[in-house]
Amino acid sequence: MACCKVAPSRLKADANENDFTRCKWLPFFLQGDLFIRFHNKIILYKIMHTENLIIGQGICGTLLCYELQKAGQSFLVIDEPRPFSASKIASGIINPVTGRRLVKTWMIDELLPFLLKSYIGLGLELGIECIEQKDVIDFFPSPQMRLAFLNRLEEDGQYLSLQKDIIEWSAYLNYDFEYGIIHPCYLVDVVKLIEAFRKKLVKRNFLLEAYFDIAQLSVENNRITYKNITAEKIIFCDGTAGAENPYFKNLPFAPNKGEALIVKIKDLPGTHILKRGLNLVPWGEDLFWAGSSYEWQFEHDQPTTLFREKTVEQLNTFLKVPFTVVDHWASIRPATLERRPFVGFHPLHPTIGIFNGMGTKGCSLAPYFAAQFVQYISKGTALSADVDVHRFKKVLSRV
Ligand SMILES: Cc1cc2nc3c(=O)[nH]c(=O)nc-3n(C[C@H](O)[C@H](O)[C@H](O)COP(=O)(O)OP(=O)(O)OC[C@H]3O[C@@H](n4cnc5c(N)ncnc54)[C@H](O)[C@@H]3O)c2cc1C
Repeated sequence: MACCKVAPSRLKADANENDFTRCKWLPFFLQGDLFIRFHNKIILYKIMHTENLIIGQGICGTLLCYELQKAGQSFLVIDEPRPFSASKIASGIINPVTGRRLVKTWMIDELLPFLLKSYIGLGLELGIECIEQKDVIDFFPSPQMRLAFLNRLEEDGQYLSLQKDIIEWSAYLNYDFEYGIIHPCYLVDVVKLIEAFRKKLVKRNFLLEAYFDIAQLSVENNRITYKNITAEKIIFCDGTAGAENPYFKNLPFAPNKGEALIVKIKDLPGTHILKRGLNLVPWGEDLFWAGSSYEWQFEHDQPTTLFREKTVEQLNTFLKVPFTVVDHWASIRPATLERRPFVGFHPLHPTIGIFNGMGTKGCSLAPYFAAQFVQYISKGTALSADVDVHRFKKVLSRV
């Protein structure tokens, strides 16, 4: 793995910022490092240099670093750990069809083989398994929804089937209108993945666990300086915080809130993702992730009683077996008005980049577009016009 010039953990040991501001000191540079003459002592204040300064280590930051590493590019990540970031509470479903009409997910034929290779490769490197096939059983909530499935199956049945599962689901669940199967679907263990990658970053001193304060970023002659770090490029992978970023706030972000319950259901097989109005996603021993909501208007990012009550009622209707609620989560999806990601560099600031806007599909989209972005950075190959932020040149040029 390529590395940044100096280990961040050395910084605290080398110098205490308060000492410099209180006392008389004389700074001078020698071979790229800053030295401070401080009373009778000379202190080395290390300047770190990296090719890519990455802000945020959710699924986007993680996949981007993985691709940068494969391309031999150096990077340093700044991430403030937040327990309820979108990536940490996502169920991690990769579903090849979308919405009530079960249309093919955008670009899914290209995304699927790519993301499988990517998650398997990354898992091998980290010594974990982070993706598994879990097909969706779609229990039709009404005759109309059954008809919609049958129509879609006739038009394009690539990812749909009516085959009966070997499990007798009526022993566990209430449903009146049969079911269809969506396959192949996958489940990414996002938390396991980003935690394992984080451990690796920490081990190699590639991570600063801190809040990135954009007020301290300086961009002069396209050179990036942040505190004692210099970089050739800075790339924001900061999820919903991107909507407040002064460089990218004019992009058409459309944050969307989602909530989920974690429920214990001892007697339910965890072989599939079970869908009926909500998704019941196997979540480890006897646990299921139940959700979620999609709210375009919300007052805060916290769990609500309304969601909890509604979901418990849905589960009471759907399940024949007992369950207990063990947790309740909420987060905001970094969604966009036109449901396409934001990838690339600012049209007026070619060293300031963004990798964001994955909306409800971070697990499907991030591997493919991280690779495309890094090819663009390292080889100059084109970005897809659908995702390149240059499509918003006009709004991004407004101050
Ligand atoms: C309820 C719910 C269910 C979902 N289910 C699925 C699913 O099944 N499948 C799917 O593909 N997607 C799903 N998603 C969407 C998915 O979670 C997002 O697309 C994805 O997580 C976005 O990842 P990200 O890396 O862009 O952002 P985030 O995960 O939000 O990561 C951003 C990171 O940047 C850090 N950061 C931000 N600002 C700063 C700062 N100033 N300084 C330092 N660090 C900073 C944050 O701490 C965080 O670690 C779901 C989302 C929700 C809310």
